[in-house]
Amino acid sequence: MSNHDSTVVKIYRGRFAPSPTGPLHFGSLVSALASYLDAKKRQGSWIIRIEDVDGTRCKPSFSKQIIETLHSYQLISDEPIRVQSQHSDIYEQHLFELKKRQAAFPCNCTRQSLTQYNGNHPLECQSSISKPHSWRLKASSAVYQCQDNIQGTLLFADDLKSNCPVLKRKDGFFSYQLAVVVDDHLQDISHLVRGADLIETTAQQLHLYDLFGWTPPKICHIPLITNHFGDKISKQNHAKAIENGHLETLLRALHYLKIDLIRPSSIAEAISLAIEAWDPSKLKEIKNLPLEEQDLHLI
Ligand SMILES: [Zn+2]
Repeated sequence: MSNHDSTVVKIYRGRFAPSPTGPLHFGSLVSALASYLDAKKRQGSWIIRIEDVDGTRCKPSFSKQIIETLHSYQLISDEPIRVQSQHSDIYEQHLFELKKRQAAFPCNCTRQSLTQYNGNHPLECQSSISKPHSWRLKASSAVYQCQDNIQGTLLFADDLKSNCPVLKRKDGFFSYQLAVVVDDHLQDISHLVRGADLIETTAQQLHLYDLFGWTPPKICHIPLITNHFGDKISKQNHAKAIENGHLETLLRALHYLKIDLIRPSSIAEAISLAIEAWDPSKLKEIKNLPLEEQDLHLI
């Protein structure tokens, strides 16, 4: 079993990496704040990365809008913003590495055929290189564990056995899984603070780190803000855009991070008080935070 608790103290480098498939919504503001506050509380750097590898759903106009909204809340990248769609050649090189190590296989299964074969890939799929195909990560019996400062010990025992995530799609676009691992490594990201919905991707990412021989960042997962159906607030369920630079919205977002400030006079003041007050242990083992009645208008 691989235990990814690095004892080497690295300089803290955190990031927020939105996908520009819509404007920034309340749930993403909470995530952005958590990663920012954690970085700044520990005198680290915080960078923004635009995860727009999915060329069918991402739009440059949303990237611009998201960055403007983040800036209006004083969440400003310490370094130039990396835009993933400009780096496909790098993901291609890393996919090539995985192919060389026989850790990836071509697949032309459809969702329908996968259902028919109970999620297994028939032999003809794996020899499908002449037809349009995706590239998937091979299944593995590797077991991973990570020490999440918020969620506690996360053990991933079976996650990779029957799950072969797509690394590059049939239409030529790279997947989030490959791009995020490559970029976090290339940008020397030391800490990830992200939503609990991403726990399910963690084993696949740790496995990619292992295959490349890289040390993964320390990862912790903040609770998800959920709507009254218990679903994550997301663009998929039509969460609306938040207003730019709205102090009350910021205070409500901080409230879900267990920071309740008393009448700060400006966004700048609220952010600096929030950095002092940030204490992730207050969120311990909480996976979901239902949106409170007074905040329903925000989603
Ligand atoms: Zn297949």
